[in-house]
Parts: sequence; C-alpha cells; structure tokens
Amino acid sequence: MVRTRFAPSPTGQLHLGNLRVAVFNHLFTRHHGGTFVIRVEDTDRERNVPGALEAILEDLAWAGLHWDEGPDRGGPFGPYLQSQREERHREAALELLRAGKVYRCFCSDAFLSAVREEGEGGAPGTGCPGACQQLDPAESERRVGDGDAATLRFPVPAERIRVEDAVRGEVGFHGHDIGDFVILRADGRSTYNFAVVVDDIDMEITHVIRGAGHLSNTPKQALLFDALGARRPVFAHLPMVLGDNRKKLSKREGAAGVAELRAHGYPPDAVVNYLSLLGWSPGDDREVLSREELESELSLERVGASDAVFDLEKLRWISAQHLARLSLDALVAAVEPFLDRTKFPLEGQDLRRGVEAIRTRLHTLGEVNEHLELLFPEASALAAGVEEVRGEGLEAMRVVAGVREALARLPTWEAEPLAQTVRDAGKALGARGPALFHPVRLALCGARSGPDLGLVLAALGRDRTLERLGASRLTDLGLDGVWV
Ligand code: GLU
Repeated sequence: MVRTRFAPSPTGQLHLGNLRVAVFNHLFTRHHGGTFVIRVEDTDRERNVPGALEAILEDLAWAGLHWDEGPDRGGPFGPYLQSQREERHREAALELLRAGKVYRCFCSDAFLSAVREEGEGGAPGTGCPGACQQLDPAESERRVGDGDAATLRFPVPAERIRVEDAVRGEVGFHGHDIGDFVILRADGRSTYNFAVVVDDIDMEITHVIRGAGHLSNTPKQALLFDALGARRPVFAHLPMVLGDNRKKLSKREGAAGVAELRAHGYPPDAVVNYLSLLGWSPGDDREVLSREELESELSLERVGASDAVFDLEKLRWISAQHLARLSLDALVAAVEPFLDRTKFPLEGQDLRRGVEAIRTRLHTLGEVNEHLELLFPEASALAAGVEEVRGEGLEAMRVVAGVREALARLPTWEAEPLAQTVRDAGKALGARGPALFHPVRLALCGARSGPDLGLVLAALGRDRTLERLGASRLTDLGLDGVWV
C-alpha cells in the first residue's frame, strides 16, 4: 500500500517548485491507489507565518491535489502538525539513547563555534570535538544529574553510506563528510532530520518523493531509519528546476507563488500538466496531458535526474491548449470570475459569443478582458477608427456602407453567413483583401486586424454592428446614402 506525504513548512506562500513536488507525490499516489498525506513541518517557530498554512492548503486544493490525511481533516496517523509531535520525537530520541545508538554530547555551542573558528574540529566523522562519545556512561549520568546541558548525537560510521534512490540509482556518501550529528537539542527539541524520520516512520510513509535539494539530508535520514529499526522508504529525489539562464529559478520566472498563477487564471489542470513535465515525460512527444492521463501514466522510472528548466512560454502554451480543449460552456463558466463586468457588462448569449470570438487567443483566463477589449474598445478608440476610415477616403467609406447594407438585409445573424456576406458584398463593391477588411474592421472595432470577422460580427450582434458601421457615413456632409 503506497503512502506518500507532502511536507510543507508554513513559512510563506507555496511556490511553483514546491507545488511540483506535491504534484509528483499526488499523481504517483493516485496511480497506485495509495494515500496522500499532508504533514506540516512547522517546528521552526520563528519562521512560521500566520495564515501561511491555510493559504498553502487552499493552493493545493485549487490545484486539485486532494489529500487523504492532513492537519485540517485528520486521519489515523495524526497529529499532522509536526509541532504537536515534539513529545513523540523526544521519546524516540531517548529510546535510541537507551539502546546505546546515540550518545550524550556536552560540548557547548560556544565551545563548538570556537573550535570551528580555529579550524580544529578534527576530521568530521571523528565524533564531537569534545570526544563525548568516549565518556564513561556513569560520568555522563553524573553530569546530567548535575544539570549539565547535553545534546544527543548520532555517531556516523566512517564508511561509505549507500542510499538507493528511485531516480538516481545508488547514491554514495562518505561518513567522514557527514560527521556525528545532533538529533535532540539541549532544550529537548528534536532536530529537523530526526523529526522527519520519526514522523515518516509513524505515518508509515512508503515513498519519500521530494526535491533534489534534500538529497544531502538523505544519508542522515537513512541511518536514522536503520537505527530506529524501520524499513527505509523508497527515496525519489526529483531533479532541480532552474531558470532559463540555468541558474536558480528567479521570481519573474515562477519562483513566484502559486497564488500569482491563480490570479492570472492559469487552469489548474494545465499547471499540473506543465509541472509534471519538469522532470518526467510520457515517453513520446505528447506534452498536453489530462489529469487522468497523468494519473495513469506517471511513474518514477521515467523521472530523469538532469535539471529541468522552467519555461514560462511553455506553461502559457500548455495553458492555451487546455483552454482550447474546453467546451464553450465550460470556458464561459471558467472565464466569468475573471471578467471585468464594469467594462464588459455581458450576460448570457452575448457573453457566450464574445468568448467564442476570442477563445483561440486566450493563454490564461485572466486575458479575457484584454481580448474582449478588441471587440468592445473604448468609445475614443472606436471614434479614432471611424476617423481612419474617413482618412482613407471615399472608397473606404463606400466599402463600409456597402457591407453595412448587405448585412442589414440578412434575416439571421450567425457567424458563418455573416462572414460570407461580407465577402460577397466586397465582390459586388470590387473590394477584397485589405481594401475590404481594413475599413470594415476599423469601423467595427477601431483596429485593422482582430479575431475572426464572422465571430466578431456574431458577438457584436445586429444592432451594434449596424450602428458602428453606420458611424462612418458622411451624414455630416449631407451625402448620406450616396455611395450605397
Ligand atoms: N519541509 C520540507 C520542505 O519544505 C520537506 C521535507 C521532506 O520532504 O522531507 O522542503
């Protein structure tokens, strides 16, 4: 039975890199019909930010990464806030002490940093600089009795430590490079690596899927699993995600929060799809995958170890592909929360037709307003379009008026016949290409180009269309109708 966990720290908002880790855990778990757990690593009290946990959970829910156990919904392995498990961590550390698997270290912080500064720490892996491991147990007991502060240190063997990684294969570390590390601080609080391992054991986590940045923690954690008599989980370290200059992901590129993507209106399925491709591929050239496809296909075997590069343009492209796959009704519903209704007070069929006209241009839902602007520009932009038609001369005005008359005769108002009517009118007027479409578009929307003309006309509707096309007539010169 697969059990995975996503272990955010509530120190700020969820970033894309973290969300990718959650995506891999979630898809992998769903693939295997397992249980996905949220465990909150909140023991670094000073860094915790009020409200951050709620925001992280909201972002995860938005992305559709629903969890089976977690701080808000409980579960059989709770509590799921690490800060509420401190007693359990302490107990587990003391158990290791009783079993002789860790030793008390009386080296004070001041002593340790003085030694470090003088560079006389000795080779790492040779114990603490005070050689506390060699202390006689009775002496150690006596000092604790006297109230001497002690940490608990894990003795790292001076040998090669091998860790099996599902992505990288066997990874080797040398014990010397790690050195004996503290698992319990003098104030009785567990260190990070120890808490993680105790919780992973207690929560029966079978697969630890996380970013490559945690690889250096893994030998310590592996040794702790061994010492606690637990089976090591399957470790899988996802490749790093770099910015396009192959350096650390910058804010501009997407180190920015998930909240920002939400605000822009990237569909969650597209974000999950894109993030799944940062380190994994389906093995063929497909790049646009539905959530169902991802759940059925994602496997750790196909995760590569080489760095992935974040590419905002690619995310935008994938987002556009997901939007293109939606039915018009679904797209309209998705777009509605992003609509600026004060500018575009569109409802019902008007909204539907407006969205239909611009849908092929959308990369994100949030772009809906800038594209609707093409159909419903400010009055000043429309007036400028009319001026341009006039500026082009009588021929352009004649074309607009002729097209208007032809459209006015139509019994129905549907995109395809509308476009055909414009072309036919152009033929009759002896105008085609730019000579036909530029004046018509300028008069309609104030610009020489724009979305599909038939869809634009359908979206504007009969009254608005005829009114706009009528605005460039030479009424003011008393020549109205002369050119029709
Ligand atoms: N809390 C860690 C983080 O936010 C995750 C630790 C882990 O996955 O083992 O990166």
